[in-house]
Formats: sequence, C-alpha cells, structure tokens
Amino acid sequence: MANMRMDKNPMPEQDPKVRVTNFDEVALGYPLEAAMDEAARCLNCKNPQCRTGCPVSVRIPEFIEKLVAGDLDGAYDIITSTNSLPAVCGRVCPQEKQCESKCVRGIKGQSVAIGRLERFVADYHMNKPDKAAPAVPPSNGHKIAVIGSGPAGLTCAGDLRKMGYDVDVFEAFHKSGGVLVYGIPQFRLPKEIVAAEIDNLKAMGVKIINNAIIGKSITVDELFEDGYEAVFIGSGAGLPQFLHIPGENYLGVYSANEILTRTNLMKAYRDDYDTPIKKFNRVAVVGAGNVAMDASRVAKRLGAEHVYICYRRGRDELPARLEEVEHAEAEGIEFNLLNNPCAIHADETGHVCGIEMIRQELGEPDEKGRRSPVAIPGSNWVLDVDTVIIAIGTSPNPLIRNTTEGLTFTRKGGIEADENGATAREGVFAGGDAVTGSATVIMAMGAGKTGAKSIDEYIKSKSK
Ligand SMILES: Cc1cc2nc3c(=O)[nH]c(=O)nc-3n(C[C@H](O)[C@H](O)[C@H](O)COP(=O)(O)OP(=O)(O)OC[C@H]3O[C@@H](n4cnc5c(N)ncnc54)[C@H](O)[C@@H]3O)c2cc1C
Ligand code: SF4
Repeated sequence: MANMRMDKNPMPEQDPKVRVTNFDEVALGYPLEAAMDEAARCLNCKNPQCRTGCPVSVRIPEFIEKLVAGDLDGAYDIITSTNSLPAVCGRVCPQEKQCESKCVRGIKGQSVAIGRLERFVADYHMNKPDKAAPAVPPSNGHKIAVIGSGPAGLTCAGDLRKMGYDVDVFEAFHKSGGVLVYGIPQFRLPKEIVAAEIDNLKAMGVKIINNAIIGKSITVDELFEDGYEAVFIGSGAGLPQFLHIPGENYLGVYSANEILTRTNLMKAYRDDYDTPIKKFNRVAVVGAGNVAMDASRVAKRLGAEHVYICYRRGRDELPARLEEVEHAEAEGIEFNLLNNPCAIHADETGHVCGIEMIRQELGEPDEKGRRSPVAIPGSNWVLDVDTVIIAIGTSPNPLIRNTTEGLTFTRKGGIEADENGATAREGVFAGGDAVTGSATVIMAMGAGKTGAKSIDEYIKSKSK
C-alpha cells in the first residue's frame, strides 16, 4: 500500500549560516528511514512516465520497488544497468525538469523524490565495505581512445569496457572528471564521490592518461597511427564566453570558469595550498544558470560580504536548478533580476569599481518560449562592486578543431555529429558538450552511451 503523503521527505542540509563558512556538502542525504518512507510514495505505475523523462531511461519504479523491499543491492544493480554515475546524477541532475516533472504524484502534490532516492542507493553502495569488483569481459583485442574524462568520456569508456574493448582515456588536466571536478564545487558534489565513480571504472580496466592534451601532446591522427581503431571525442565546452561590453578587460573581471577552477581543482580555498585568488568583498555574477549559482556561492564562501546575481530576465526564467536557486537565496545571495549589464567601470588604477546595468521588462516569448528582455530606456544605474564574474556560458575549445582534419563544426564551434555520435570523419565519434555546447551531465552521459554503441557497431562492421 503506497504512502499517500503529498510532500516529499525534506532533504537534511547544513544550516545556511554555518555552510557559508565551509566547503562541506550542503545536502546531507536521506537516512535509511526517510528513504524507505519516501520510496513508499511511489505508485509503481504500469506506464511509468518518470522513466520517459530520464535521458538514460533509468528503470525508476523497478529500483524504487527493490528499495521498498529492502533490497538495496538489487536497487543499485537496476540503476547502474543504465546509469554509470548514479551518485553524481542523484546530486546534480535537474530532476524537476526531467523524471520528477513527469511523475504522477506531482499532479496533486509533490513528485516522488527520485533524485534523492537515487543518491541514497548510490551512497549506500559506495559506503559498503564488501563490494565485489565489477564483472567485465576479457579483452576483445580492439583498442579505443576516448578524449576527455568528463561524464561523456567516462560513460563511453565504461560502456565500451563492459563490451570487452581496451579503452584509454586521454585527459588534459591532472585530475579526471571534467566539469564534475573542476567546475561543480565541493559543497554540491564532493570530489571523493567523483573519485569513487572513477575508481570503479579503473577497477573495470579503463585506463586514464592524465596531462595528455589531444592536439598538443598527441593528435587524433597519431592516435590512429598508435593502433587505436576508433576515437570518441568528449572534450566538453571549456571556453568561457564574455559579454563584449566596455570595461571587460579591467582588473577584477573573471570568467566563472577561472574562479571555479582555481577554487575547486587548485584548492585555492584551502590555507595549505598557495593557489592565488583575489580577495573580494562586493561581487557581481553575471548570468543565472548553475554556473552562476556555483560562482556566487563560492564567492560568498571565500569571504565576499555582498554577492549579486545580475540577470536580464525574471525569476520564472532562471535557468539554474531550482534547488541551487533556493540554496543560493538561503545563503544570502542577492538577486538583481531584470537587469542587463552594459558596462564595467574602474577606478584610476584600472580596478573594477562598479557594473552599469539597464533595467529590463519582459516582452514577447522567443523561439524557445522564454520571454525576451526589453531594455527600459534611460534606466541605467551602477552597482558598486569590486569584482565581476561572467557566467553566461561556454563553448568548445578550438584546439581539436584546429588540429584534426576531416571533422566539420557548427557555427558555435561544436563538432558536428549525427544522432549516433558519428562525425564526418570515419572512425571518429563525438558527444556531450563538445557537440552540443554547454548542457547537462545526464545529456553528456547519454551521448557517451550512444557513442559507445556506435563504436561497437563500427568495429564489428569493419571486422566482418
Ligand atoms: C560550474 C558548472 C556547474 C554545472 N552544474 C550542473 C548541474 O548542476 N547539473 C547538470 O546536469 N549539469 C551541470 N553543468 C553542466 C555539466 O557539468 C556539463 O554539461 C557536463 O559536464 C558535460 O560533460 P562532458 O563530458 O561533455 O564535458 P566536460 O565535463 O567538460 O569534460 C570534458 C573533459 O575533456 C577534457 N579535455 C578538453 N579538451 C581536451 C583535449 N584537447 N585533450 C584531452 N582532454 C581534453 C577537459 O579537461 C575535461 O576534463 C555544470 C557546468 C558547470 C561548468
Ligand atoms: S511516475 Fe512517480 S509514482 Fe509512477 S512509477 Fe514513476 S516515480 Fe513512481
């Protein structure tokens, strides 16, 4: 008999006043009792709409049913049959726009907390002392190269290894994980969680070669010469976009990527590391996606007294995950909505002293259905800040584009690939942000899965 409580069980979290003073995880995870109680809210629908909302089709009612029966290992096996990074997805997927948006329990109350349950099962498994090593088939003798160790590359590598391929992942950074380690902060996705998921892949036999920049250390052509029979490019979209407004070159203007990389990957927030980072007090973060929320909350934790989100649309249009917006608000981030930055001001030493904005009102919906901002003439004003962090999106880095023959690219610099991940060059497949531009973890994972399947078909077709 299902539990007909209308609301989700709340997620235990660190108190906002305490958490702004540390980088520890904000959401603490369900204890067993809360998870079982929440799982009992699932109706185990015959035609589960939640599953259609999941880009990797996790068998949601089946894993929840196992949970209700107390079979946590069974629940984990069901989730990981389609999702190789469940502890990550349970923490960062925008469930309110995906599986949970389709859950029937959401019609008359709140949806089942699918993401929180997925995290619970993944964490249970991660903390289990007597885990068996994942079973993988012996090598089939075919070597595949994967470029990039973000969610696209890791998923592709894991799936290929499960099919018997020898997989080497080439990663430019000294740490593996892509945005999961250099972008998303520790307080939202602890690095140990990503490291544990990566260790799992390594235990399956996936090799990761760090500090290897494809296009510099070695080219795609040289990978083929070295005996790799196919290449998957999952190199992400790490090149920050800027506003192209006057004053963007003043001292104290940063991309969110730079602040986040220095803080997360280079550990600038820790006294035992000497990574330099600016001391700031009043910070404007331009943009309102997950990256902007992360940058603003990092700035707060690094000691800024006032952190402002500056965004040209309104609250209903905020692109960030709802939970991130709520967490940012609870931590005292101030939202300057319907304000479009048009210039950055500096003092006589060239250091930022303000950001000029024009107030906006919402006009007609654009092609995506979002109402477009329209400037209110003469409404310019200046917000007094000493730092501006730009978080308005990223595009793919041009290195692979400039060093690889035979690929074609979109107007925005993404690699052109068809629905199977195949590029214009034989044997080269691509997926994730490198193709789509900045998107989501689960979309990148879905592309990695598709890429692995297509590479398997390609190798088999060649061997016939
Ligand atoms: C701060 C931030 C917060 C985010 N928050 C969320 C969130 O809450 N939820 C969500 O779903 N999504 C979020 N996203 C988006 C999500 O992280 C990305 O869509 C996803 O990581 C893309 O995965 P990917 O594997 O395609 O690329 P990436 O994760 O970018 O990984 C690409 C990897 O390739 C490596 N690489 C690049 N070029 C080369 C080269 N030439 N040679 C070798 N290696 C190379 C890079 O170093 C990197 O490790 C966030 C993004 C950012 C930046
Ligand atoms: S739609 Fe909601 S209630 Fe139905 S199976 Fe999915 S999670 Fe359970």
